[in-house]
Amino acid sequence: MSFLEYAPAPESTAILDLKPEYGLFIDGEFTPAAGESFLTISPATEKPIARIANGTEADVDRAVAAARKAYEKTWSRMSGRDRGKYLFRIARLVQERARELAVAESLDNGKPIKESRDVDVPLVAAWFFYYAGWADKLEYAGVGANPRSLGVAAQVIPWNFPLLMLAWKIAPALAAGNTVVLKPAETTPLTALLFAEILQQADLPAGVVNIVTGAGETGRALVNHPDVNKVAFTGSTAVGREIARSTAGTGKKLTLELGGKAANIVFDDAPIDQAIEGIVNGIFFNQGHVCCAGSRLLVQESIHDEVVERLKSRLETLRVGDPLDKNTDVGAINSAEQLARIRELSEIGEAEGAERWSPACELPENGFWFAPTIFTNVSTSHRIAREEIFGPVLSVLSFRTPAEAIAKANNTPYGLSAGIWSEKGSRILAVADKLRAGVIWANTFNRFDPASPFGGYKESGYGREGGRHGLAAYLKEGAGAMSESAVRSRRDASPERAVLSQSTTKEEQ
Ligand code: NAD
Repeated sequence: MSFLEYAPAPESTAILDLKPEYGLFIDGEFTPAAGESFLTISPATEKPIARIANGTEADVDRAVAAARKAYEKTWSRMSGRDRGKYLFRIARLVQERARELAVAESLDNGKPIKESRDVDVPLVAAWFFYYAGWADKLEYAGVGANPRSLGVAAQVIPWNFPLLMLAWKIAPALAAGNTVVLKPAETTPLTALLFAEILQQADLPAGVVNIVTGAGETGRALVNHPDVNKVAFTGSTAVGREIARSTAGTGKKLTLELGGKAANIVFDDAPIDQAIEGIVNGIFFNQGHVCCAGSRLLVQESIHDEVVERLKSRLETLRVGDPLDKNTDVGAINSAEQLARIRELSEIGEAEGAERWSPACELPENGFWFAPTIFTNVSTSHRIAREEIFGPVLSVLSFRTPAEAIAKANNTPYGLSAGIWSEKGSRILAVADKLRAGVIWANTFNRFDPASPFGGYKESGYGREGGRHGLAAYLKEGAGAMSESAVRSRRDASPERAVLSQSTTKEEQ
């Protein structure tokens, strides 16, 4: 089959007014780091974008001190109504500078401009608008009569949704009355620094938000700083585990959003055309660099061959290439390290006997690229069915009965998200009830809304971001509240969960 070629439609970078070098954003000002600097590059071309400060322990110390001072002197004393006004102002400035932020995000991260323009940046504004509305209504958030802020929040985020993860962290923290020190990921610091400019434009009081760039060591210094009251981390399960250990017994409140290996379950009564789009969106959105990606496709046996065939012909139409081209569907892999990991796991998949397929597509010479890939003949014991690949790679498995679909879906150490495709509402509800995943989509995938809580079970972490639950993570509970852990243990003790965990254990034996 041949398709009409599209002429390139690149988004111009002329809108960006980047500095060649960025310092750390501490106490309302950009300040030079005590240590060295590093380059952030475009993963699509490997060309440098800007030089970034590598924050040291001394820098982290300065940032935490600024956040503490702002907490004591201004932010914790301000009324919720006034805090809300700042958040509304930030949301409006994000909208005003939306195009610039989208271009910077695609340049630094490698994601297609149509995603950063139509998904990431609008959601960033939505998150700030949503939590702006909560700032003066905290007593109605379900955390008791008189909820109080925690103090200084240390926040560490990954590279897959740099600005969106920043919004998920900063908006609820500020609405609840905390101050913040945030560390963006080392490969994608750019939009957090542009966001710091927005904070200056919004006249946010100095020290309320501080941004310290750097790598793992900087993150470690931040989460281990003795004067922080809350740690919020999104990233890998390995680092999450280290943080859980190092913060245990310190009294710091902790939220962990970690990895995933979501099942996207397609029943034989599903609307197939819609399901194909959902499968593609589930795993190829953002190059599969999505913690809640639908990376395990479970298809009912009777429609397996038809779904695989239609999926392959849909993949032939995906355009892989320049993230700044408005026609691009799949952009660049974020870093050389991530590309190496995707390649390694894909080679292991082949060696273990799964069948590998990619559409014919020409990949650019420079930069980091990986063609959309499907593995069929995958069994639950294969590493590609168990480990998070965090790339555009889909493993296809089949099932015969709903019970088998549920058992296979739950047969993972993770539990972040899942998808169900069926025309029967009763089946969707019955299956959803038995899936051990924090977020379940029905006849859609990868939809996000600031009012909806997001977070995991098991090795996908704990705590919720988004909605009222996201506020609870930044508040001390007032009188009459049910603690987060009480909610958790109540849920885990429900009869369905207990029966399910027994049958899951059986299946794994
Ligand atoms: P990572 O864990 O290596 O890094 C995440 C962040 O933590 C980065 O800012 C990094 O500099 C910092 N960091 C690294 N070591 C640290 C340490 N010892 N102490 C404190 N901070 C440290 O993960 P990554 O490679 O950047 O991101 C990919 C992973 O993140 C994937 O496994 C993915 O599933 C997960 N992720 C989860 C979610 C979610 O919401 N659950 C969202 C996005 C990504």
